[in-house]
Amino acid sequence: MNYGYQKDEFEQECNTCGAKFKVNVPGQIGHEESEEYFCPECLCMYKTRASNTPTVTLISGRTDGKTFKCKSPYED
Ligand SMILES: [Zn+2]
Repeated sequence: MNYGYQKDEFEQECNTCGAKFKVNVPGQIGHEESEEYFCPECLCMYKTRASNTPTVTLISGRTDGKTFKCKSPYED
């Protein structure tokens, strides 16, 4: 698979559950649009500009002490 280049990599703290995760954003000139990625703990959705779905790696677990997961926008 051709992912172009690694556009960005950053750490993010989920503002819903407090989990920390690393986001690896693939880029490809001329093929970047708003791509979704999800918090690995609560599945809350975020978006960034990328050429493909960003890869998410969990760093530390949620800190809110809860177990709910955000509702998928693709489910009823
Ligand atoms: Zn979360």
